Amino acid sequence: MISESDLPNGRFFNVHTTRFSNITMTFSRQHLLGIRELEPAEITHILDAAENFRHLADRPIKKVPTLRGRTVINLFFEPSTRTRTSFEIAAKRLSADTINISASSSSVTKGETLLDTARNLQAMSPDLIVIRHSSAGAAHALARVCQAGIINAGDGAHEHPTQALLDALTIRQHKGTLENLRVAIIGDILHSRVARSNIHLLTKLGAHVRLAAPRTLLPPQFAAIAERNLEIAPNIEDALTDADVVIVLRIQSERQTDAFLPSMREYAVHFGLNKKRLARAARDVIVLHPGPMNRGIEISSDVADGTHSLILDQVANGLAVRMATLYLLSGGTPHGAANIGDALLRDST
Ligand code: ASP
Repeated sequence: MISESDLPNGRFFNVHTTRFSNITMTFSRQHLLGIRELEPAEITHILDAAENFRHLADRPIKKVPTLRGRTVINLFFEPSTRTRTSFEIAAKRLSADTINISASSSSVTKGETLLDTARNLQAMSPDLIVIRHSSAGAAHALARVCQAGIINAGDGAHEHPTQALLDALTIRQHKGTLENLRVAIIGDILHSRVARSNIHLLTKLGAHVRLAAPRTLLPPQFAAIAERNLEIAPNIEDALTDADVVIVLRIQSERQTDAFLPSMREYAVHFGLNKKRLARAARDVIVLHPGPMNRGIEISSDVADGTHSLILDQVANGLAVRMATLYLLSGGTPHGAANIGDALLRDST
């Protein structure tokens, strides 16, 4: 188990409020471990790169040679549908060789530690390792022992940076900017790495974030937060009033050791997003959910499938964000491509 003190930057819940700036820059990081350590300009750089990759999905041939000869290992110790599939498709569309390892097929079932697994994988010289693990700090731990670039695909309740990036891309496409948007995040904030990464990203890019959750599902540190652009709403109705964006979270039962809620039915009554509640939000509100959804609990089907919902756009954008991440962490311009535009001009042969 990795403890909080193993993480760089100490505490989990320290929210930055750095202002958005429009600096043009090259991406110089080796790893993507969290949103917390990124500068606003770096976030914008990834989003801009992802915007370029989005159009690849509309082509008849969806493959480019950009990462030919590179090796990407997907190391998933927790269940995943969207994240794992989109990292695999993203790597394949960039012509990288991909290998998928899940907890059940790895030697952790025989008692090998995560770090020994990582050292053994490193001995095969991968270029990038994408890791999902139930322990906060797992990706950081790998970054300390591997030369490969490490991408955090979710570490416990800590961070899920590519989810926050794809959420931001979806918001930016529909609202033009994140600055000054009112964003309500509703649900199990305490156990949600999606909430944590989103709070960092949204506040860094100038959005105003309102959190709504049962008291038992709010991190105790948040009660004392007095950031200018982060507030705790007294109830879901207040959080939703005039909101431009609503991000709905699943109850993370797999991370709950105590009884945090009397029942799911009660949660649905007091915190479930339905059409009636959504009517309080701005007329052009957009609704996001990272998936998997529990219909009828945190979100009603008429909202999930309704005109305000962008849940499937998020999935499409997830692919573009993961392509951008793999591309930028690989140095950005492999195989003679001068830039993303150049890379995308050349179909794989
Ligand atoms: N898929 C997201 C995650 O891995 C959200 C969720 O599981 O509810 O954190």
